[in-house]
Amino acid sequence: MTQRSESPVFSRSMGDCLFCKIIDKKIPAKVVHEDDQVIAFRDINPQAPTHVLVVPKRHVATLNDVTAADHAMVGHMVTTAAAVARSEGHAEAGWRAVWNVNAAAGQTVFHIHLHVLGGRALGWPPG
Ligand code: 5GP
Ligand code: ZN
Repeated sequence: MTQRSESPVFSRSMGDCLFCKIIDKKIPAKVVHEDDQVIAFRDINPQAPTHVLVVPKRHVATLNDVTAADHAMVGHMVTTAAAVARSEGHAEAGWRAVWNVNAAAGQTVFHIHLHVLGGRALGWPPG
């Protein structure tokens, strides 16, 4: 195991992390996609008809903690988000990907996740 993967920020799974518990199937979720790198599941408090969270299986706390070593993981999150939006029928009409980072943006779960929102008109600027 490398020093990086032993770091608390980058460890494979954090015992007190809600999304690590969903990844480990200790907490149920409505999963729409899963592979070796990411899981995508429906938000428990949806803000649009489609509200899916795309979550990497490796624990990283915030987008501030992502490095060049994470390019493949982040790229896979983005293509998964687009695939989910397409499968939910929003590719042509439009949809939104949102990444909240820390308190001012309203991040509440400190395991990175990409929100996929679609199925209604989405205002700009966001709140
Ligand atoms: P954030 O505010 O950190 O960007 O987004 C966290 C999201 O996780 C929120 O939209 C919230 O509704 C969602 N969430 C919180 N707890 C749970 C849960 O137990 N299950 C699911 N599926 N979503 C959750
Ligand atoms: Zn986690």
